[in-house]
Amino acid sequence: MSDDPPWFRRLSDGVLAVVLAPRCLACGTSLDAPLAGPVCLSCWRSITPITPPFCRTCGDALPTWRGLDLVSGTCARCRRQPSALACARAVGAYEGVLRQLIHCLKYEGRRTLAAGLGGMMRERGREVLEGADLVVPVPLHWRRQHARGFNQAEDLARWLGPPLVRALRRVRATSPQVGLSASRRRHNVRGAFAAPRRGLLRRRRYDAKLRSACVVLVDDVSTTGATLQACAEALREGGAREIRALTAARALSTPR
Ligand SMILES: [Zn+2]
Ligand SMILES: [Zn+2]
Repeated sequence: MSDDPPWFRRLSDGVLAVVLAPRCLACGTSLDAPLAGPVCLSCWRSITPITPPFCRTCGDALPTWRGLDLVSGTCARCRRQPSALACARAVGAYEGVLRQLIHCLKYEGRRTLAAGLGGMMRERGREVLEGADLVVPVPLHWRRQHARGFNQAEDLARWLGPPLVRALRRVRATSPQVGLSASRRRHNVRGAFAAPRRGLLRRRRYDAKLRSACVVLVDDVSTTGATLQACAEALREGGAREIRALTAARALSTPR
């Protein structure tokens, strides 16, 4: 990350650790190497991946292998309703340290965390990113983006590799998805996203980028996947060939 000679970095880390005594954002222990970021190594290591059995399409973790169709590798929900997403993956479950760090990024504006989280998304989402032409962050409504000052999905998307394109806009504000049932969430976000405005020069530029592209949608958390589905439908209308999704976390055991 730094071009400084290792001895200088060690020395600076030592001085910072003594003078400022910064603490890990997640566990609160003193950081030995503050230059490496605001989270200690053991907290990063505690973020474990979602382990099999999980659905090959939506990435949902299943309690037993019995819920999985052995031929297609998909869960009952994906077999029942075809998804606009070819596949969806996350770094880990939305709990513990991962949940804490996403909160710090989103609500406390600790934007430097996006580098570490994005790096993990890149590593654990290799399968999703392979062969992708672009990454598209899930947009915030302009009013929320204005209030927060940044879009956390965009901060994460920057670290994934493929070019970032803001190919979506939120055409209406939606109430927060927290606390809503799966069907209410779907209803809440239906038609909330669209490709950039028709008729403008920008639109033509986006059309060319999206047409026949393999796109990876990026967000911080996926709960029922309703937001990602709504975005994927808008991207498909915009001409994308294949749409995948990669999120930092995935909420597990949501009511269907
Ligand atoms: Zn820690
Ligand atoms: Zn599934």
